[in-house]
Amino acid sequence: NPLARAKYTFSAHALKQLPPDDAREVAFAGRSNAGKSTSLNALTNQHGLARVSKTPGRTQALNYFEVAPNKHLVDLPGYGYAKVPEEMRERWKEFINVYFHTRQSLAGLVVVMDIRHPLREYDLQMLDYAFGRGLPAHCLLTKADKLGRGEQGNTLLKVRKELGERASVQVFSGESKIGVDEARAVVSRWLEL
Ligand code: GDP
Repeated sequence: NPLARAKYTFSAHALKQLPPDDAREVAFAGRSNAGKSTSLNALTNQHGLARVSKTPGRTQALNYFEVAPNKHLVDLPGYGYAKVPEEMRERWKEFINVYFHTRQSLAGLVVVMDIRHPLREYDLQMLDYAFGRGLPAHCLLTKADKLGRGEQGNTLLKVRKELGERASVQVFSGESKIGVDEARAVVSRWLEL
């Protein structure tokens, strides 16, 4: 697993803190509590890589993890947390908007969604940003262990149909390690590992 070499390198709190835009990176987005940290930990096979159960809305930085020289995973701030002050939310919307529209290093977007609540407003926004600039996107329907096989399959079909060509979709569970190899393959391909 080439992602197992991931190590935390730094956090960008503002656009001017982003590393030089001459590498390859795959961004991970998701609503607060969707299971993004757990997914990153499962993909890298590192328990404490992305901290689970941080205070939502407080860790509003882009966290960079290097998996190979000039190849990074980027953990974007979780969105949709109601208690984040409006002003802060606006500032971050703008940050993410500019990041998606200007970042040349960005090779792909992974959107982590709770399989029980897929395709909420900001998920679709992220996917639109990616599609708008021709960036490949992949959705993880995580916490699949919370549903039976039949329900997992139904949701997968529904989400696939709704997204059409905009993104690929798979069933996932960071906790029960469902679909981990499939997701690793996508990310590794985008990073050319
Ligand atoms: P984040 O805010 O998106 O980074 O979400 P976390 O990874 O911190 O997970 C939020 C909560 O969901 C935690 O209580 C996790 O234990 C739980 N969780 C995350 N992934 C899974 C999963 O695949 N299955 C189950 N059952 N629970 C999960």
